[in-house]
Amino acid sequence: MKIGVLALQGAVAEHIRGLEAAGAEAVAIKRTEELESLDGLVIPGGESTTIGKLMRKYGFIDAIREFSAQGKPLFGTCAGLIVLAKRIEGQDDAHLELMNMTVQRNAFGRQRESFETDLDVKGIDEPIRAVFIRAPLIKQVGEGVDVISTYKNEIVAARENHLLACSFHPELTDDYRLHAYFVNMAREAAERRG
Ligand code: GLN
Repeated sequence: MKIGVLALQGAVAEHIRGLEAAGAEAVAIKRTEELESLDGLVIPGGESTTIGKLMRKYGFIDAIREFSAQGKPLFGTCAGLIVLAKRIEGQDDAHLELMNMTVQRNAFGRQRESFETDLDVKGIDEPIRAVFIRAPLIKQVGEGVDVISTYKNEIVAARENHLLACSFHPELTDDYRLHAYFVNMAREAAERRG
């Protein structure tokens, strides 16, 4: 599987390492033409307003919507989760507006800006190590969205068909099972495309 990491801003190299550890070929993506050869795309953590602005500037909003319409998997982590969401609390406009959920930015407040914990994730056997940094939360999910992980009763990871999103940074530990989960989604989608 060839998986891209959107490389406009944020934690790109760490995702590339994680995807390679999960057995995929991983490439940094800077231009829309590069999407064509991919089986899946990761939108990394960073700063969602900045990533959104750069996506608009370089034509990625339409290009990634088109990518998604082909059933090709997308994985948004932290800021990438915000970029995928249909609705952002307190903002009139969202970015890709692909995943049927409402997100709250910086949901943990200043006291808990960053922390690590072990999380149960549906579809993964043992808990995974998760790093939260100024993390968003999924406040509401619409029809078709499956909640796959919660932390203190709040939603921190979800899946809607070929779309995967998590509040935390799975690329900042050496536990790459969520990357493997995504590579598997890409494999299944490729089989369906034939
Ligand atoms: N707080 C950031 C935002 O709103 C996300 C933080 C992150 O990706 N680590 O975009």
